[in-house]
Amino acid sequence: MSEDRAMQYTARWVWDPRQGLSEGASVILRQGSIVEVAPRPRAGVPTLDLEEGLLMPGLVNAHTHLELSFLAGAVPPRQDFVGWLEQLVQARPGHDKDLAARAAARAAVELAAMGVACVADITNTGRAQALLAEAGLSAVSFFEALGERKVEPPPAAMDWSDGILRGFGVAAHAPYSVPSPRLRALKARAGGLPFCIHAAESQAEVEFMLGYGREGARLEEFLLARGLARQALDLSGLRPVWHLEAMGVLNRHTLVVHGVQLSQEEVRMLAASGASLCLCPRSNLGLTGAIAPVWQLIKAGVNLALGTDSLASAPDLSLWAEMAALRAAEPGLRPEDILTMATLGGARALGLEGRFGGLLSGAAGPLAFAPLTRMGRREVLEAVVGGGLASAPRGLTGS
Ligand SMILES: [Zn+2]
Repeated sequence: MSEDRAMQYTARWVWDPRQGLSEGASVILRQGSIVEVAPRPRAGVPTLDLEEGLLMPGLVNAHTHLELSFLAGAVPPRQDFVGWLEQLVQARPGHDKDLAARAAARAAVELAAMGVACVADITNTGRAQALLAEAGLSAVSFFEALGERKVEPPPAAMDWSDGILRGFGVAAHAPYSVPSPRLRALKARAGGLPFCIHAAESQAEVEFMLGYGREGARLEEFLLARGLARQALDLSGLRPVWHLEAMGVLNRHTLVVHGVQLSQEEVRMLAASGASLCLCPRSNLGLTGAIAPVWQLIKAGVNLALGTDSLASAPDLSLWAEMAALRAAEPGLRPEDILTMATLGGARALGLEGRFGGLLSGAAGPLAFAPLTRMGRREVLEAVVGGGLASAPRGLTGS
């Protein structure tokens, strides 16, 4: 096999979620995909030695809304979920489409520059997919259904070309905003491909689903003002994820986003179903002051992924900053658990664990590199997840 178009990267430290941390290994890419991971650099292959720092699989941002990028800073989260929803729907209509497209394109380029390989992106228009591919990013675009009729997602599909995935998944906005019969139909439409839904994000959502409380009443009013009456939802009187379980929409192809308000029973349901959960730590903390019960979820064996959510609720789309926020919120977590959420966990959530999230032959690039100052083996992963990088992280495409 000719090595002439191959490119080899090596660094002081190399990390893979399955193999752990090693010193001085190399990763060879050809045409954007990994062809070999070697314990030492191979002779005769063009090599870039990145020196001090951590070379690792490209990150998987398991939840964002690229097309909301133009709302950066417009709706500051103030731990008032319903208030934020109200401001968001006021800010969105009548916006300048060119400006929104430019903001989304800029965000996609930034994601690629900081070492993201694959994005799970929620869309209401389908416009972001091309912008992500232009930036060299693989993506699963989830067309999001809302209410009784809004947006009918196209069939789910996974298409690869030039080493980039252009995937389409099916999303339902949330158990409180999509009628139950439609929820079941959407899940059936996704089949064996990824299905995504926001759930258990706020106390307001839980109260609304159970039919009590001041925050629940505020959410009910908000939905009614948007034309969605409680009666139309055909609710079960159950908590959000319990409701999803009762509707038969939880299985290993389901990606539940947020889960801040999960009960113990709901954690068990997620684990038993094989569904994945995506945390968006900064968005969750900003909008609700809390994050999902991470320890319970890890103990139960739920596959966890990390996402940034959109620029309407997060200050930037840095998954590195999400790792640091999670580390700060849950200081007892092992750094490798957090790194796994940002790589293999996201890939698994999308059914793509052979293609993303790990350094293995046949996986798609780009890789990620986190520059560090000189440090001992025990400090490396801690520094990476704790925000202790020496300079900006990078994506490595092999060209
Ligand atoms: Zn979202």
